Amino acid sequence: MGTQLHMFLFPLMASGHMIPMVDMAKLLAARGVKVTVVTTPLNSIAISNSIHTSKSLSVSNIHLLILKFPTAELGLPEGCENGDSVISPAILPKFISALNLLQTPFEEAVMEHRPHCIVADIFFPWVNNVAAKFGIPKLGFHGIGFFPFCAMEFVRIHQPHNHVSSDTEPFLIPHLPGEISFTKLKLHESMREDLKNDLSDFLKIAQEAESTSYGVVMNSFYELEAEYADCYRNVLGRKAWHIGPLSLCNQEIEEKSQRGKESAIDEHECLKWLDSKKPNSVVYACFGSMTKFSSDQLKEIANGLEACGKDFIWVVRKVNREEKEEDQNWLPEGFEQRMEGKGLIIRGWAPQVLILDHPAVGGFVTHCGWNSTLEGVAAGVPMVTWPVAGEQFYNEKLVTEVLKIGVAVGTQKWVRIVGDFVEGGAMEKAIRRVMEGEEAEEMRNRAKELGKMAKRAVAENGSSYSDLDALIKELKSLAF
Ligand code: UDP
Repeated sequence: MGTQLHMFLFPLMASGHMIPMVDMAKLLAARGVKVTVVTTPLNSIAISNSIHTSKSLSVSNIHLLILKFPTAELGLPEGCENGDSVISPAILPKFISALNLLQTPFEEAVMEHRPHCIVADIFFPWVNNVAAKFGIPKLGFHGIGFFPFCAMEFVRIHQPHNHVSSDTEPFLIPHLPGEISFTKLKLHESMREDLKNDLSDFLKIAQEAESTSYGVVMNSFYELEAEYADCYRNVLGRKAWHIGPLSLCNQEIEEKSQRGKESAIDEHECLKWLDSKKPNSVVYACFGSMTKFSSDQLKEIANGLEACGKDFIWVVRKVNREEKEEDQNWLPEGFEQRMEGKGLIIRGWAPQVLILDHPAVGGFVTHCGWNSTLEGVAAGVPMVTWPVAGEQFYNEKLVTEVLKIGVAVGTQKWVRIVGDFVEGGAMEKAIRRVMEGEEAEEMRNRAKELGKMAKRAVAENGSSYSDLDALIKELKSLAF
């Protein structure tokens, strides 16, 4: 056992961060690395479920280390251990404080187990100090790709938005290859004076800590964004290993459907429904783990889906019981009856990768979270881009302008959780553009080609496979 590399993986407690890190754990374990995933009691249940759907014997290399989450100490609602449930701005500062309070127990765990490397989410910037104290290399994981990271970093450093006269006047993102234009309205709230809040400082500290890590692990593959991977390494001068798409480590039906949370639909029932549809005929609409649209917006989505005339799967977050009754009746009159057999509404969590990988799916309406974007790419599905918040507006640019495998629905404004309002007609138009006619066919061909490249990247001797080899080799040379 003397030369088995031991790594700590410490994901932020939010689905969009935990899911790829659990995939990373499986990938590392399959290469003989001992992995300890550090998390909190409630999150450990979902992680354990995801890990144990894998039939591979290598999952015995994965261990869980559980730290108590200080919910009660900080007056957080019971069970509030995951960012997905932090939708009220009043809870956010407490949640951030709770994350920071994990430092002491985390440090004790490092002291006890002495891993050879720590991969931590950038939202735990203090891990840099812990790692330095014990002389352990720390790798950052921010859960996004080279393109959005470079774009965000160049905007942060050069502040081009300070030289425009209005929120809607376009500016070019300096130093970013490809002449990418942007507007102030699409920037993260931490960049806009009028929206600065507790999260702004937290984000700033996290971004600064990234540059002092040993390097970063990227959920991406070189062929997807080669120019931007080079830019990250050569212009920003940081060390990075691209080892994705991480979702591709899930091959079996159970693995693909048990990512993050328990699905609200039986995976076999879902596959049966898709099996009854023609290839490339179904639109899949899902907006990630954090978005929560207003009733008016949901109504418009229903109208858009009905008007486009396609079969669809639509994932809608489950309504809280305490919500007002009128907020629960957002479906247009008679919608479910009219759409019977044509549309499948999943209320709650969907087995997203399983759905995207099905040949019947021909279009993905997405909020452009990085994981969803990459999952769409890996499945070779063209997209309707509907960015809401986070770095999603940058991801939209990658999909629509660089890769040319999608059409923007037209959201103009960064708005946390609820997003910019979109009318059903705009949605219908965008869906038709990605699914009908010559332009759609060209997009589909490009998307399919990228999907094949993604699979080649993770196969033996592919670019991601080899970069992971290089990472393990380097870490071993530091450890032994
Ligand atoms: N996801 C899922 N089912 C859902 C919603 C989301 O499996 O109903 C998964 C999705 O496949 C992705 C992750 O949750 O891996 C969401 O991450 P992303 O970066 O796309 O968005 P976020 O939720 O962080 O905004």
